[in-house]
Amino acid sequence: MKHRIGIYFAYWTQEWDGDFIYYIDKAARLGFDTLEICPANLIGQPEEKYRAIRRAAEDAGLDLTYCIGIAPQYDISSEDAAIRRKGVAYQKQLIDIVEKMGGGPIGGILYSCWPGAFTRGITDKRPWWERSVGHMRELASYAEDHGVTLCMEVVNRFENILLNTAEEAVRYCREVDSPACRILLDTFHMNIEEDSFEEAIAAAGELLYHFHIGETNRKPPGLGKMNWDTICGALRGIGYTGHVVMEPFVRMGGTVGGDIKVWRDLSGGCDENGLDRMAADACRFIRDMLG
Ligand code: MN
Repeated sequence: MKHRIGIYFAYWTQEWDGDFIYYIDKAARLGFDTLEICPANLIGQPEEKYRAIRRAAEDAGLDLTYCIGIAPQYDISSEDAAIRRKGVAYQKQLIDIVEKMGGGPIGGILYSCWPGAFTRGITDKRPWWERSVGHMRELASYAEDHGVTLCMEVVNRFENILLNTAEEAVRYCREVDSPACRILLDTFHMNIEEDSFEEAIAAAGELLYHFHIGETNRKPPGLGKMNWDTICGALRGIGYTGHVVMEPFVRMGGTVGGDIKVWRDLSGGCDENGLDRMAADACRFIRDMLG
């Protein structure tokens, strides 16, 4: 099966919001099959907006996928029951919106929050884990009924405490035990935490539902030292057929630059046309690598 290759819209933006229809057309024109967007700011928008985005994607022949780092005030692993309750309601709103746009995967730090809450001196994360699993069971069951798959993004230690390796994510998904609770691996985070790309991808196996790619410094794939032969070979090895979405961040500034901690220009001084060319090149590169 041909892999669906995508890009996260915030490559081009300084905020976690934008004119998604503009980026749908751009991504399709640059050769992508998928555009990933952040659903946070779609909450409370008029129904017509969801229909328009869905129609634009259908017209462009593009799939939509979604990614979000849940804000701390909606953390379902929180020690505060009121925050957990708000978190469950918040994610149900996201699921409702994504259903209206045609369903599909929502990935990210759904099991906790971003950036993760760090409390000094903790050597046992089980209470956070257990609260998270409990609420994720309810959310996954809700997602199942609404054509949405929740993908737990495994991230590095500097961004969250709960799921830092594929092995932990497998254990988490088994505890939640729902077909709507699956794994998202990201080469940027794997590079920091995993012993081996092949072993991590193999460990996730059939639970791997979504995949993020990027270089170690978050440049587009092909511009750094990641071993794409190994990574793409491992994806083929498990018969992965999901989306492969690049998540490059190369420019300073705005909320995106600050949250991602881009402290130098990694774009080579590109204007928007230059960014477009770099994205199109990375899309071709990864399509060749995936075979
Ligand atoms: Mn990612």
